[in-house]
Amino acid sequence: MHKDRKLLIAGNWKMNKTVAEGLDLVQGLRRELAGVKEVDIVVCPPYTALSEVSKIIMDSNLRLGAQNMSEQAPGAYTGEIAAAMLKEFSVRYVILGHSERRQFQKESSELIAKKALAAHAASLKPIVCIGETLEEREKGVTEQILEQQLRGSLAGLSKEQMAETVVAYEPVWAIGTGKTATTQQAQDAHAFIRKVLVSLFDDAVAKRVRIQYGGSVKPANARELMSQPDVDGALVGGASLEVRSFTDIIKNSI
Ligand code: PEP
Repeated sequence: MHKDRKLLIAGNWKMNKTVAEGLDLVQGLRRELAGVKEVDIVVCPPYTALSEVSKIIMDSNLRLGAQNMSEQAPGAYTGEIAAAMLKEFSVRYVILGHSERRQFQKESSELIAKKALAAHAASLKPIVCIGETLEEREKGVTEQILEQQLRGSLAGLSKEQMAETVVAYEPVWAIGTGKTATTQQAQDAHAFIRKVLVSLFDDAVAKRVRIQYGGSVKPANARELMSQPDVDGALVGGASLEVRSFTDIIKNSI
């Protein structure tokens, strides 16, 4: 391993895959990735496939993540899913505040912080997503936006909870567009994020937090991105939907 922090590579399937398709995919991943110990590997299927996928990856090196959860405890919240319900399927991670949810469901950093606290209360590890839009990058306010999102989305977390939280830096302009941040842009943003974590928490916590890069990660760019000193993994969308591409991203990152 090239750094103290173990790489964490997660596949975000988004609103894709029937149960049968999801099972096909994880059966393939289980076979191709057997024995890989250098990377923590996570798959994040839609809610509808969690139960079946959970059974297939039991006793494997694949871990299960969800794509969202409610900030509320079980109760009268129609259409929502509570952390306790995810735990039933041995979910370990939960993606929070993905830019698509910030954009389409108008999720605020304040709400994401509540979800992160609820996740920790249930011993789920949140993957908190942040990232600037193209307009914000062009205006030169990327760092301001990242700092605001970090302050808001991590509000109220203890140092211990933060150390078990993952941050995903996902420049919105690079998600699903085929445009990847250059390795330098990614490293600069990650180093900045770690600096903000030092000021919000402390140096020891900031050194432990894994910061993933997300935005058009593919087998061809994974190695260079993952070799950056502050890049500790990837959150992969499109390329996580096929056995070959997700496997190659992981193998190329080792
Ligand atoms: C994502 O949505 O988290 C993502 C990074 O998507 P893609 O890899 O398709 O750009």
